[in-house]
Amino acid sequence: MSLECDVLIVGGGIAGLSLASELAPHRSIVLVEAEPTLGYHTSSRSARQLIPSYGPPSVQELTRRTLGLLAELQEDTGLALTTPRSFLLVGTEHDVAGKASGSMHPISHAEALQLCPQLQPGSFEAAGIDTSCVGMDTDLLLEYHQRTAEDAGATVLTRSRVTDARYDDDAWLVRAGGRTFRAGVVVNAAGAWADPLAGLCGAAPRGLVPFRRTAAIVAVGRVPNVGMPMVAAADDSFYFRAEGSGLLISPCEHVPGTAGDAQPNPGDVEALIERLNTLTTFGITSAARSWTGLRTETARGLPVVGFDPAVPGFFWLAGQGGYGFQTSSGMAELATELLTNPKAEPGWPAAVLQPRSAAESSGGAAPEDFVE
Ligand SMILES: Cc1cc2nc3c(=O)[nH]c(=O)nc-3n(C[C@H](O)[C@H](O)[C@H](O)COP(=O)(O)OP(=O)(O)OC[C@H]3O[C@@H](n4cnc5c(N)ncnc54)[C@H](O)[C@@H]3O)c2cc1C
Repeated sequence: MSLECDVLIVGGGIAGLSLASELAPHRSIVLVEAEPTLGYHTSSRSARQLIPSYGPPSVQELTRRTLGLLAELQEDTGLALTTPRSFLLVGTEHDVAGKASGSMHPISHAEALQLCPQLQPGSFEAAGIDTSCVGMDTDLLLEYHQRTAEDAGATVLTRSRVTDARYDDDAWLVRAGGRTFRAGVVVNAAGAWADPLAGLCGAAPRGLVPFRRTAAIVAVGRVPNVGMPMVAAADDSFYFRAEGSGLLISPCEHVPGTAGDAQPNPGDVEALIERLNTLTTFGITSAARSWTGLRTETARGLPVVGFDPAVPGFFWLAGQGGYGFQTSSGMAELATELLTNPKAEPGWPAAVLQPRSAAESSGGAAPEDFVE
């Protein structure tokens, strides 16, 4: 016998869970996750920072919306989801100027050194700061969304990989984890697997590419000062921030990968440690832990959200790239609006993230169909 629901969400990362928690009061929901634990893939591998000046304009707007919604949530629940943590950009005059956008403001070389005295003075020419950023307890946010969804009646199942799906008689019949589900709508929140899942459901791929991004926790000789901002190179070649008495560092690689359990390449973290030991006086001694996640994006770098124009009842919530947490509440709100009122004229930013028309986006190719 099949399990019936209005909406079957595929993927138990931040995209699927934040939507489940927002949508559960309005629709009956089942969320299926292939892995034994929720958030197993990219959503447990992030740098946990929300940066309103990061990304294209519609991503920045979604980030500001998310920050507003999270502030309300913290006020209502008392949960300590975010803590203020500025974002300091350093590099050449040219590179820093190229990243000046939204809430990112230029500051002097001396001010940058005051904020991060461990930077070697000769290692950068110019700096900018975004003081509207926060660090986030992403585990707590994932738990909150799961609990809220389940309290509102949603069923959340792990070890349930979707292996087969067909649309028949106005509903989806989906096989996952040895069970059959019958759902009016399937939501594709499958992260790096979003295009393969679309293929399984008969939808055209959107040109989503999983890009590898590695990070590590390292031990240091000189402990970061309290309140140190996250520091990033304006040429996207590294970032670091305090993590306990050590640092979280990343080489910021942007290398296409394949959907799977990504692992660091030997030597990548060691090379970054060597470089940071020339650019800073932290005296990094060793890596305690390193990991790699997949930031999945289209060529335009915009999320793909909305009903597929060619396949009935198939809804995309994918392509969040490096912005999955910072846009999550805004995206869940937008997706809920589109799912509960699909005939409504989408407001901004739905309009900028939607396919321009069914005619334009049917028939295959398509990152171009989602316009900024
Ligand atoms: C190193 C690094 C640093 C980052 N830092 C930040 C940051 O500071 N701030 C920020 O906002 N973002 C950051 N990101 C990006 C952010 O982590 C991602 O955008 C976000 O986690 C993507 O969430 P998701 O739910 O789309 O994907 P995922 O977390 O990967 O979830 C998708 C899930 O779908 C499941 N799935 C796939 N196929 C199936 C199937 N057939 N059946 C059932 N389940 C399936 C998978 O098992 C997976 O668990 C970072 C990413 C990396 C790698």
